[in-house]
Amino acid sequence: MGDLLLTEKEAAGLVIKGVNSSQAPRPRWAAVGKVCSPRRLVISALERSMERAWGLHRPAQFRDLGENRFVVRFYSEGVWKHVMKNGPWKFDFNVVLLREYDGSIHPSDMVFNSMEIWVRVLDLPMDMMNRAYGELIGGWIGKFISVEVDEDGFAWGKELRIRVAVRVDQPLMRGVNMKDYDDEVEGKWFDIKYEKIPYLCFDCGCLVHPAEGCQAKKDEVKQWETPPPRIPSQFRDRLGTAEGIHLRGLFIAMIASGVMSE
Ligand SMILES: [Zn+2]
Repeated sequence: MGDLLLTEKEAAGLVIKGVNSSQAPRPRWAAVGKVCSPRRLVISALERSMERAWGLHRPAQFRDLGENRFVVRFYSEGVWKHVMKNGPWKFDFNVVLLREYDGSIHPSDMVFNSMEIWVRVLDLPMDMMNRAYGELIGGWIGKFISVEVDEDGFAWGKELRIRVAVRVDQPLMRGVNMKDYDDEVEGKWFDIKYEKIPYLCFDCGCLVHPAEGCQAKKDEVKQWETPPPRIPSQFRDRLGTAEGIHLRGLFIAMIASGVMSE
């Protein structure tokens, strides 16, 4: 308002009362997104690309919010859940960060510094294939969201699959060194694999750089190296391009949804 001289009525303001939730419905099945790209977002291109990636049968409603942000509204709860639960998505090689939108916060106040992703921990012994270890490891990698286990809390697959929110401005963990005690020297290393990982910086291992740019020391050997194709050839037609990232013998793969989830 600055130096605006307010009238008596303006100064008194509008007291919000008596508007109940049925009179002021919250938007359903909506999300606010941000494309982490240095280039300006072209919303029509994003729309085409996302509708294909999400497999939409009816168009979703996109609206450009500026600063590479957008709001999208889906036509059904099922589609909305599919999109929110199976990311991360990418547009033009850049990660698209999505947040559930219920209308209570202004989109420009939403913080986009993390991304939900499915993580697989490889070669765990059977006694670690359960909810307790899923929560423990997921909470160490980032913010634990869920773990794929049966109703008794056991995971019967080859790998423990955990949904985690990771910071996009911090290097991704390439494995977890499990120790029984704080002062244990060696521990046991288990590789971590990420599903559908978007492009990340091969110097520092982050998905998004801070404003100052890449923080990796320039004379260090690249720890996150250029990707050779790692997706089995029978899937390449379905995927378009095969992408993966070799991490000095450890491997983070970009796996299209469905390829390894059955
Ligand atoms: Zn970097």
